[in-house]
Amino acid sequence: MRLSQYLAPTLREEPAEAEIPSHRLMLRAGLMRKVAAGIYTFLPLGTRVIQKVEQIVREEMNRAGALEVRLPIVQPAELWQETGRWEEYGPEMFRLSDRHGRLFALGPTHEEIVTDLVRNTVSSYRQLPVTLYQIQNKYRDEVRPRFGVMRAREFVMKDAYSFDRDEEGMHRSYRAMYEAYERVFRRCGLEFRVVEADSGAIGGSYTHEFMALAESGEAEVVWCPRCGYAADVEKAECAPPAPSAEAMRPLERVATPGVRTIQALVDFLPIDVEHTAKILFYAASYGGGREELVAAVVRGDRMLNEVKLKNALGALQVRMADQEEVSRATGAPFGSAGPVGLKGARLLLDREVAAGRNWAVGANEEDWHLRNANPGRDFPSGPIHDLRLVGAGDPCPRCGAAMESRAGIEVGQVFELGTKYSEALGATYYDEEGRSRPILMGCYGIGVTRTVAAVIEQRHDEAGIVWPVSVAPFEVVVVPVHYADPAQREVADRLYRELGEAGVEVVLDDRDERSGVKFNDADLVGYPYRVTVGPKALARGEVELTRRATRQTESLPVERLVAALRERLAADRAVLSVE
Ligand code: ATP
Ligand code: MG
Repeated sequence: MRLSQYLAPTLREEPAEAEIPSHRLMLRAGLMRKVAAGIYTFLPLGTRVIQKVEQIVREEMNRAGALEVRLPIVQPAELWQETGRWEEYGPEMFRLSDRHGRLFALGPTHEEIVTDLVRNTVSSYRQLPVTLYQIQNKYRDEVRPRFGVMRAREFVMKDAYSFDRDEEGMHRSYRAMYEAYERVFRRCGLEFRVVEADSGAIGGSYTHEFMALAESGEAEVVWCPRCGYAADVEKAECAPPAPSAEAMRPLERVATPGVRTIQALVDFLPIDVEHTAKILFYAASYGGGREELVAAVVRGDRMLNEVKLKNALGALQVRMADQEEVSRATGAPFGSAGPVGLKGARLLLDREVAAGRNWAVGANEEDWHLRNANPGRDFPSGPIHDLRLVGAGDPCPRCGAAMESRAGIEVGQVFELGTKYSEALGATYYDEEGRSRPILMGCYGIGVTRTVAAVIEQRHDEAGIVWPVSVAPFEVVVVPVHYADPAQREVADRLYRELGEAGVEVVLDDRDERSGVKFNDADLVGYPYRVTVGPKALARGEVELTRRATRQTESLPVERLVAALRERLAADRAVLSVE
C-alpha cells in the first residue's frame, strides 16, 4: 500500500474528549472517527487491526472445534419475552419497531436467538455437543459510553455458545473455550489474568473473566502472589476473620454532639477505627415492584460490596436508599443509625462485625453513640454474610497470604449457563434411552474492539502506538527521506516491492511530506519496523532499520534488508506464538 493513496488521516492535536491513551491514539493515528457517543467509524488502518484480532479469534475458535455462524442483529421481541429478558434487560437494550408496530431489539447478546436455532435443529444426543460462534456488532445503550471503543454502544464481539448433553460435557466445552481464550489473548500480546467472577443472583453458575492489566481499567483484579488465587473485586473474598478474644464490656451511651462520620467518631471518642461499625441502607428490589429496605453493618473503615449484598439477598438490584426513605422507615435521624434497637429495615451483618466485640455504633438518636455494642447481646447476631469489598493487603481466602490488586480491562468472559435458557425456550434432546432432556449451555464472549484498545493501553509510548506484530495494521513502513530523489525512489520502490513479494505486510510512505512528519506518523501509527531510505546511508549502499518498540536502529546493506527483516519478524512472531 502506498500512503499517498491511503486514507490514514493522523492528528497532531490531542483530541479533547479522549481521556485514556488508547482512545486518544486510535483517533490520532487515524484508526477511527467518532460518529456519535459510543459509535465509531473504523478507517482502513483500524479495520485492518480489527480484522487481525478477529482472525486470531477465528483460528482459535476453529481449533477448539467451534462452528462459525451469523445470527441476526435485529431480533424479535417475542424471543426475549419467552425468557423474560425483554423486561429484565432494561434500558441498555436498543429497541425498535417495524412498520407494522412489531417490536425488535438490536442484539446486545444472542442467547435467545442461538437457543431458538438449536431447539429447532437439534433433537438427538447424536447432534451434541456443538459450539456455535460468530463475530459481529453488538448493541448496548450504555449509561456512560466512554473511553472510545472500550465502552461503546456499538462494538464488535465474538460470542460463542456451547450445547451439551450433561454437566460433564458442559465443563469440557467450558474448559475448551477457556483455553482458546488464553491462546487468543497471548497471541494478541496482552498481559492478562484469568479471574473468578460474579455470576449474579441466579447462583450455581461458574464464570471467569479475562482481564488485561492496565491502569485505565474500569475493573479491579485482586490476586494472591503466593497461591495464584485471582478474582474480580466484585467477587473477591478474603480469609474469614478470627473471632475476637475480647471480653464483652458493658454497653455505654455516649453524647457525641455533631459527630456524623466514622472519622469524626474516631477522633471524638477517641477509639480505634477497628472498633467502629457503620450501617449502610439499601433499597433492594426483587421484581414485580417488590422492594425492601436493608441495613448492612460493616466495620467503619470497610467498603460494602454491592454485588455481594445483592447476591446475599437474592435481589435483582440494590441501590443506596436516600435520607428520607431511611428516616421514614426507621424513625432514626440520618447519620445516627445503628444496629441496636433498629426498626423498619432488614439487618444483615458482615462476617467481621459478627466475629468482633465491643463496637462503637450509632444510637439511632441524634448526637448519641453507643460503645461496646455486641452481636447477640445488644443487637441480632445474624444473618451473617461476607459483604465487604476486599482489596490489597487482605488475607487470601485460600492460603492467607497478603493479596495484591490492580486495575484491569475485562476483554473476555466465559460462563456456564446450565439449563437457564434451554428450559425457558424448551431446547431439549432425546438421550440414548429416548428420554427428553434439557440441553446444558455455556456462553463465551470476547470484546474484539475492546481488545484492540487494551493492546494499545499496554503498548504505547509518548510518540504513539507500539503494536505487537500479530495485530499491527502493517508490519513495516518504508520511508524514503525524499521520495522525489531518483536514487531514493528507486531503492524505496524496490524494497517495497520485494518485501511485498516476500509476504511482508508493508506500506510505502511515498507522500510529499517532510521526513520529520513521516517519521512522526510512523511512530504514531506504530508499525513494528521502519526502513529509512536516506541519502547518507544510501551513498554507502545501506538503509536503516528501526525497531519501533526499542527505537534501536541498525544500518544494513540494501540487498540484506529483506532477509534481515523476515528474520526479525519471525522472531517477533515466535514470542507471541502459542504452539
Ligand atoms: P462490562 O462489565 O465491561 O460492561 P459485560 O460483562 O457486560 O462487560 P459481556 O456481556 O460479558 O460484557 O460481554 C462480553 C465481552 O464484550 C466483554 O468481556 C467485553 O470485552 C465486551 N464488551 C461488553 N460491553 C462492551 C462495550 N460497551 N463496549 C465494548 N466492549 C464491550
Ligand atoms: Mg462480562
